[in-house]
Amino acid sequence: MKCYCVVNFREPLQMLDMAKPTPEGGEVLISVSAAGVCHSDIHLWEGGYDLGNGRTLSLKDRGVRLPLTPGHETVGVAEASGPDATGVQLGHKYLVYPWIGCGSCPACNSGAENHCSAPRCLGIHRPGGYAEYMIVPDTKYLIDIGDLDPSQIAPYACSGLTTYSALKK
Ligand SMILES: [Zn+2]
Ligand SMILES: [Zn+2]
Repeated sequence: MKCYCVVNFREPLQMLDMAKPTPEGGEVLISVSAAGVCHSDIHLWEGGYDLGNGRTLSLKDRGVRLPLTPGHETVGVAEASGPDATGVQLGHKYLVYPWIGCGSCPACNSGAENHCSAPRCLGIHRPGGYAEYMIVPDTKYLIDIGDLDPSQIAPYACSGLTTYSALKK
């Protein structure tokens, strides 16, 4: 399958041909329909986050390894699932929630995986949606979008959540 990857920071993304993954356990294979480009993808490509006052958070410190397939705003069709996956309907379109944690710390256990200090986010720590297919580790990260437009819904996974969070505050 084709993947658009950051191979070296600050160089154009390269198209790599990788093996199409097979879902195992509770995983789901998503055939990508739409992938948003986020502001933070630019930082990913640059190799770090500007924290202001001349300070930078390097992606190495954040656990990012290259080559990386970015893309954390993804909608796709569930094509296959592992033997332990429950509640997914193959052929349905899903928005993929990318902010995945370690699954065992207090933040994760309280349902706030986005606050996990050992994150395993899709498109940052693990392959994301700039590819023909991506693996989602559990069906709980999939939101069925029915007949909504994938390209309109994909940014909800990050841009939409950011706006929602700001409004709630
Ligand atoms: Zn955690
Ligand atoms: Zn984002």
